Amino acid sequence: MGKKMPHYISTTNACKLCKPMGACLAFRGIEGTVPFLHGSQGCATYMRRYIISHFNEPIDIASSSLGEKNAVYGGAANLKQGLLNVTEKYRPQLVGVATTCLTETIGDDVPMILHQYRQEFGDVSEQPLVVSVSTPSYSGTHMEGFHAAVTSVVKQLAVGGEKNETVNLLPGFVSPADLRYLKEVMEDFCMPATILPDFSETLDGPALREYPLIPKGGTRLSDIRKMGSAKASVEFGRTLPEETSGRFLESSFSVPNHRLGLPIGIRETDRFFEVLASVCGRELPERQAAARGRLIDALVDGHKYVFGKKAIVYGEEDLVVGLTSFLAEIGVQPVLCASGGKSGRLASAIAEVTAGIPVNLPEVHVGTDFYEIAEYAETLEPDLLIGHSKGYSLARKRNIPLIRVGFPIHDRIGGQRILHLGYQGAQMLFDTIANAMIQKKQDASPVGYSYM
Ligand code: SF4
Repeated sequence: MGKKMPHYISTTNACKLCKPMGACLAFRGIEGTVPFLHGSQGCATYMRRYIISHFNEPIDIASSSLGEKNAVYGGAANLKQGLLNVTEKYRPQLVGVATTCLTETIGDDVPMILHQYRQEFGDVSEQPLVVSVSTPSYSGTHMEGFHAAVTSVVKQLAVGGEKNETVNLLPGFVSPADLRYLKEVMEDFCMPATILPDFSETLDGPALREYPLIPKGGTRLSDIRKMGSAKASVEFGRTLPEETSGRFLESSFSVPNHRLGLPIGIRETDRFFEVLASVCGRELPERQAAARGRLIDALVDGHKYVFGKKAIVYGEEDLVVGLTSFLAEIGVQPVLCASGGKSGRLASAIAEVTAGIPVNLPEVHVGTDFYEIAEYAETLEPDLLIGHSKGYSLARKRNIPLIRVGFPIHDRIGGQRILHLGYQGAQMLFDTIANAMIQKKQDASPVGYSYM
């Protein structure tokens, strides 16, 4: 557990984000889907603002717009009216309803309200499917909301059937660039895949003359229904909860589930490709083997610029695990791994991924905030920070580089195009870190230099 400073008890600038926001992002990666918040209007406005700032794409999030009266009498009527409005305006195939702090606190029974809704309005033409997920933000993170939404969709839509050759790929909340990369990998392995969710187009699409109410792209509902007949599932996350969509498909439809860490760095990517190779009976594809070779060459060329540097890694737990694994591989000493999450699995996951690499185990702090991270930085004296934009003020204060990864990236463009996964992702991360170290030294030089 994260050590609390003795002179205060509140959270100051949490190192996690709102739980239903994660659910909305997951719903956005499903074809024809409108994310819908059962709560007050302010939650939807806040989340839209946050998501737009990272992805630079418009995103509509519907809301049941509860007011003070609903906090006393419940929000059932608003939820039903909201669903009717969304159906009429958007004509969606699916509405993903996520609860919020308010509706969880007042105790609205959303599954029961949706049951009533179907009885009352089932004969209204073109009714979409409605899937709900419980996402009280006062207990959990955006990643937990994301995984819970995916699990809820699979539980409510997937069915069994005759087995096929498809692999279910459940990557969690990665970037659109990562999703495009995963599609390329599955093509290289000649393996049909259902990637759920897939917001590679819906949150990183082309400029259009006319704004579509629901953007093109996302995992097809017909493919989600067939996930129970897949050959295997691969889910990323060493800190995932017990119940996931992969585990559900395994226990309900006998689809073998492979739970792996996010494929960040060499060893975790090797593990992912070993599983793909065994599932589809193929060797490592040539393009990926070549990328691995180039990466090793780059590490040989550039390790002297990063070796022995001390890093603080923060953010959502599985990203922290993957980054820590990668940093240890390239000779950077992670001194602190920090997250606002509290899965209870972060420390053991970090020990697993660094086993056999000659680095010291870092301090691990969970349920933490940026006030505490700044306090720890005073004694740990890191050379760099790795995480999202919320670490910027700390990096500025300490005059050290911030390597921007994950979500949110609010002070740079291109957050949606950061590639984290695979050998190519490791290559980009390595070049970014090495160049940041070189620039720091260059800037600090009294005379400067232009040749290494
Ligand atoms: S009130 Fe709760 S659900 Fe709404 S934006 Fe804040 S943390 Fe998220």
